[in-house]
Amino acid sequence: MYKQKPFDANSQSEIKLTNSRRSFLKASVGACALFTLPLVASHAHAKIMQPTEKKIAFLNLHTSERIKTTYWAEGEYIPESLQAIRNVLRDHRSGDLHTMDTNLFDMLHLLQRQLGSDQEFNVISAFRSEKTNAMLAARSGGVARSSFHTQGKAIDIRLPGSALADVHTAALSLNIGGVGYYPRSDFIHVDTGHTRSWGG
Ligand SMILES: [Zn+2]
Repeated sequence: MYKQKPFDANSQSEIKLTNSRRSFLKASVGACALFTLPLVASHAHAKIMQPTEKKIAFLNLHTSERIKTTYWAEGEYIPESLQAIRNVLRDHRSGDLHTMDTNLFDMLHLLQRQLGSDQEFNVISAFRSEKTNAMLAARSGGVARSSFHTQGKAIDIRLPGSALADVHTAALSLNIGGVGYYPRSDFIHVDTGHTRSWGG
């Protein structure tokens, strides 16, 4: 090892380093052999400091379908994961699917980090078609006629292992979007509309 020439910052390894993750790993292995650990370590350190992926898990209480997936990695949302989540969060009454607002998942991800939980979110209601929402609104005063649920921007959840009051407090502390507290029905509503809260 010590017979090898010292690492040259302008060498091919360094250029590869910036090309892609695969090249980064390859270059790291090569660079170690060239005892340039401090340089490689600083790159690796930067990677560790920033979150490289976001995971989320849901159980739809109406259909018993569940999903656990990495929905964001290396700075990008993963379309296949979003599609799979969208399916689990569909309107179970009508079967309608709708694109879900990715900000909602980020909000839930933050909420979970705040609570130090790795449990799956139990879903009482996520996307609702206009028809389903109108039916529920006619039946219950607690359902808004114009609801973020019909835009894929709201979800009603509880989190096993965390008291509902704690989930509610944590959601309020994020200070983003809408937060509704429904202790009698044992769920909280979160949405990506403007910051507001009710029921607390
Ligand atoms: Zn709701």
